[in-house]
Amino acid sequence: MNLKIAELKKSLDQASRIDEGRLADQIRAIGFKCLRCAQCCKADFGDNTVTVFPSEIRRICEETGFRWEEIVIPTPSKDRDQEGNIHTFEWVLRRNGDCVFLKQGLCEIYDCRPHICRPYPFYLHDGRLMVSECSGTGGEISNEESQKLAALLKERYIAEIKESIALLEKFRGFLPDGVRGICVHDSEGEHWICTKLQI
Ligand code: SF4
Repeated sequence: MNLKIAELKKSLDQASRIDEGRLADQIRAIGFKCLRCAQCCKADFGDNTVTVFPSEIRRICEETGFRWEEIVIPTPSKDRDQEGNIHTFEWVLRRNGDCVFLKQGLCEIYDCRPHICRPYPFYLHDGRLMVSECSGTGGEISNEESQKLAALLKERYIAEIKESIALLEKFRGFLPDGVRGICVHDSEGEHWICTKLQI
């Protein structure tokens, strides 16, 4: 565990030195213009899973008035402890096939949508720019917009690493806690949900 945390801290240091200008150049070379098709939010066009961290869930709840359980479920998992409780890591936005926030082709929580939705179709993996399938790639993008996406990507990447470090620092293993239900491990520790919810 300590080794993994040390590796993540090294990645965090490298992430803090990512050159946003270079990233913006790469984004501009690929090109992107959002076509407002909302395919990235729909089930019919691939994996529309949106992972969200506790701090984001609290922010969305504060800004929208939704309750925690109305917007997220524990990430689906097959991991069980010796008493049969489910253990999982992090949370995902609720879906009814499509994201629950997609209403008539528009994002109902657009101004406070999760961080991962903002720079779509771009994301960083091991510090490298990756692109998800999207009809908008190749479109014309301004310098300003590519800089904005680069900053968002770096910010999200750093947040992901910090989340993983905090999660591992609090992780005690898959221990039963005298509770029957689901345990979600995240940067805040363990969230036990006493329910028969199927995930
Ligand atoms: S939160 Fe909004 S932008 Fe993100 S997947 Fe849902 S509808 Fe789409």
